[in-house]
Amino acid sequence: MNLSTTEADVIVVGAGLAGLVATAELVDAGKRVLLVDQEPAASLGGQAWWSFGGLFLIDSPEQRRMGVKDSLELATQDWFASAGFDRDDDAWPRQWASAYLDFAAGEKRAWLHQKGVRFFPVVGWAERGGYTALEHGNSVPRFHITWGTGPSLIEPFVTRVREGMQAGLVTTLHRRRVDELILDDGAVVGVRGSILSPSSADRGQASSREVIGDFELRASAVIVASGGIGGNHDLVRAHWPKRLGTAPTHLLSGVPAHVDGRMLGIAEQAGARLINADRMWHYTEGITNWDPVWAAHGIRILPGPSSLWLDATGKRLPVPLFPGFDTLGTLEYLQKTGYEHSWFVLTQKIIEKEFALSGSEQNPDLTGKDLPLLAKRITPGAPGPVEAFKEKGVDFVVADSLPELLAGMQKLSPDVKLDFAQIAKEIVGRDRELDNDFSKDAQINAIRQARSYRGDKLIRVASPHKLLDPKAGPLIAVKLHILTRKSLGGIETDLSARALGSDGQPVPGLYAAGEASGFGGGGMHGYRSLEGTFLGGCLFSGRTAGRAVATAL
Ligand SMILES: Cc1cc2nc3c(=O)[nH]c(=O)nc-3n(C[C@H](O)[C@H](O)[C@H](O)COP(=O)(O)OP(=O)(O)OC[C@H]3O[C@@H](n4cnc5c(N)ncnc54)[C@H](O)[C@@H]3O)c2cc1C
Repeated sequence: MNLSTTEADVIVVGAGLAGLVATAELVDAGKRVLLVDQEPAASLGGQAWWSFGGLFLIDSPEQRRMGVKDSLELATQDWFASAGFDRDDDAWPRQWASAYLDFAAGEKRAWLHQKGVRFFPVVGWAERGGYTALEHGNSVPRFHITWGTGPSLIEPFVTRVREGMQAGLVTTLHRRRVDELILDDGAVVGVRGSILSPSSADRGQASSREVIGDFELRASAVIVASGGIGGNHDLVRAHWPKRLGTAPTHLLSGVPAHVDGRMLGIAEQAGARLINADRMWHYTEGITNWDPVWAAHGIRILPGPSSLWLDATGKRLPVPLFPGFDTLGTLEYLQKTGYEHSWFVLTQKIIEKEFALSGSEQNPDLTGKDLPLLAKRITPGAPGPVEAFKEKGVDFVVADSLPELLAGMQKLSPDVKLDFAQIAKEIVGRDRELDNDFSKDAQINAIRQARSYRGDKLIRVASPHKLLDPKAGPLIAVKLHILTRKSLGGIETDLSARALGSDGQPVPGLYAAGEASGFGGGGMHGYRSLEGTFLGGCLFSGRTAGRAVATAL
């Protein structure tokens, strides 16, 4: 094949979930696709392969079986309360949000099910909010874990793309980095870029950027599905919004280096409008990976609600900033304390039941569909990967007494003086609130209330106990860092995934999907997410883009 002038119906930039879904749709429609990615074939699937596979579904059979009553109306109330849309630029994001909610309450599950995707029966409760009915958070559990996590979610789309390759419809071009969109009379008609040197980098590892040639491809349409900016800390800091305090100096990366945001600027040069760049979704429960795959590799703890959350000096975070309640509310609060790290203080009993680590590789039972290993989640002892972090992670302190714990915490944070007396007071005061079955402590009440949901009681929320009860020990402290993950803004698109220009009109030939398009519209989440909505946003916007291009050609 002559790579200098290859032609096809469509070029898809990015072989992550959004690009794979779009390509699979185009194969279904019999279109010829060039699927271009800067990474080697080993990284096919992008971030989604690494993901936990958590999907937001509304009123699913899994929810109903767990006794959860959900509805499109309730989910819409939650979504719009969390999104807080408040800009003129939110016109398309609002429409995408409504369309996505219809998808999540409608055909999303059946469409995935028919492709062989299955779900773990216990639905998780992410972003619990803790405010009033019309404020941020999920009123009910909606986080459905894909059986087999991220790798099983991408599998049907990878299979369809491979079938397309066999049928001569799809050509995948790895190590091709797009540097420019080719314009002809205002229309996008192809891409130009650099051929990168072959790389034996394993999945997720940074691959070399050595250029060994250039390429040019032409097609009737280009779909940009190049992901977000989370791997590019300079860009994250450049777009850091004032409302979240000062931009952090120390960041862990929750995504591989290829999530570099470069393609967004390239799309902008071709006339696409970027909106909501200041909206991002980063976590405050990041821990340093003791076994890193990429630089500054951090893992997010998906926490249950029981750990005591302290700022860097040892002061307890205010209501309702409990673990798993309000991601950005906590980030905003912490950034305004003047310190970037914070602490969880917990017990062995809590870590065993409440610590889940986000990422396919951190959940070998769910990822490997290994039932005997999975059964261990309800027996004593923390899951293997959590135990490994406890033993080998640099952010963990394990101690048999409070003074020993505090000394260990201070050692991990030599530059910030911990107020030992304050921490002891917080812990003893909190423990006193457990002498009755009722309490004034909002976190303890939240823990008790969570356990009235069967799924939480079963596998997610430890029975309330005193942190200083030796039977629940040893005591554990975890130093938490800010971890970059998702961009909520991106290329503005209409409901057909057509990229829009500054005049509000579609840029002919240009489409966008996945994180590059703010998961649809240029930011369908608004300011905040209800979780499990990113993979779903890639499925929906990738499908929309593929179908829209197929219809337009
Ligand atoms: C550890 C982890 C856990 C997660 N867990 C969840 C979860 O449980 N639920 C959820 O909803 N979301 C989760 N997410 C988020 C979700 O996985 C991502 O938002 C989503 O997969 C993004 O997909 P994408 O296709 O838009 O982009 P990506 O996966 O980033 O793919 C983009 C592709 O484009 C390529 N590319 C970029 N620029 C160029 C260029 N110039 N030329 C050629 N190629 C280019 C990249 O190499 C990459 O392969 C998680 C993410 C991670 C990392």
